[in-house]
Amino acid sequence: MFNVEHIRQDFPILNRQVNSKPLVYLDNAATSQTPQQVIDVIVDYYSTYNANIHRGVHSLSQEATDAYEQARLKIQNHFNAKFAHEIIFTSGTTHGINLVANGFSNFLKQGDEIIVSALEHHSNIVPWQMLCERSGATLKVIPMNTEGELIMSEYDKLLSANTKLVFVNHISNALGTINPIEYIIEKAHEVGSAVLIDGAQSCPHIKPDVQALDVDFYVTSAHKMCGPTGQGMLYGKEEWLKKLPPYQGGGEMIAEVTFQKTTYADLPHKFEAGTPNICGGIAFGAAIDYMNAIGFDAISNYEHELLDYATEALSNIEGLKIYGTAKHKTSVISFNLEGIHPYDVGTILDKLGIAVRTGHHCAQPVMDFYKIPGTVRASFAFYNTKEEVDTLVNGVKKAKMMLS
Ligand code: PMP
Repeated sequence: MFNVEHIRQDFPILNRQVNSKPLVYLDNAATSQTPQQVIDVIVDYYSTYNANIHRGVHSLSQEATDAYEQARLKIQNHFNAKFAHEIIFTSGTTHGINLVANGFSNFLKQGDEIIVSALEHHSNIVPWQMLCERSGATLKVIPMNTEGELIMSEYDKLLSANTKLVFVNHISNALGTINPIEYIIEKAHEVGSAVLIDGAQSCPHIKPDVQALDVDFYVTSAHKMCGPTGQGMLYGKEEWLKKLPPYQGGGEMIAEVTFQKTTYADLPHKFEAGTPNICGGIAFGAAIDYMNAIGFDAISNYEHELLDYATEALSNIEGLKIYGTAKHKTSVISFNLEGIHPYDVGTILDKLGIAVRTGHHCAQPVMDFYKIPGTVRASFAFYNTKEEVDTLVNGVKKAKMMLS
């Protein structure tokens, strides 16, 4: 039975005050908070078995290796990957995208096309622009409508035999739109294109099944889903990961090194050069355990309740405009008060202990579409409450009064 008050006790940070007010943390799309269960795993790692992995014969190294590989299995299981070696540990979503973009340099030529969406985060635009510069390929963009939904009929028109890669986020960080990735993947495959889905914003809310999606690559960051920063994962279909060249050279990723020739290690180590964030990987596994114990159906149902409650309450404030009103969206509300800069609203909310994000949210093309410099973004997690939404709404009213 989902009990938010009970869940909140797992998050020590939620007890603190900011500017002498109880913290109301509504910046979950930027990073989520960490439950005690995950903090304990981090403390335990550094207190009892901190050691480098894979190379040591000694017991600590063996324990750390076992825990790290156990975490890989948890992630495999969570995303329903066919093989554990299809899970590559990365430093986060950005790293995973760059790893794939770098590898695709080998496969692309002049005239090939890459499709991204108008809703992308900069980390899902810039690596492809760099890839196009290197390879001579062209970048095409799926346009969006004013509700913040991608226009699928336009996507259909962009697809052709020249399409080699399609990159779309599962959920938009700027607006919360849930994109129709099942359709996007199926259509891309019909023209023989590979698909990478950016799951940075989806994984805190839903449990993707990479085999059911038949997706070629899926990336995410642990810090968006109750895990540590600097840690993430790239899922890739075995056939793709075998074809892609290594991203970085170094220790761990080799089979044999001589000055004449180096051979690479098997998957997943081929993509894991150097000493990884060992504790981060283990804590990522613990975060997945934590969220699964609550259950993604319960999380998503509760967050939808919060989203509906907050959308209605904020919509009742005169002069407040919500950007992104897609039919399928998750618990993100991007808004502005008429004639008031989002930064000023955010500053007043902070004085009231309310943490929101203001600005372009690393999605400048989305802001350009609406012809605005940025928005105030409140993003909810399963540990937020309706009372916190009320505090936000009162805070926004106060900001409006002070700034009008
Ligand atoms: N894509 C999306 C949709 C995101 O929201 C974010 C994080 N804001 C990223 C990519 C980048 O994630 P990270 O900074 O953890 O690499």
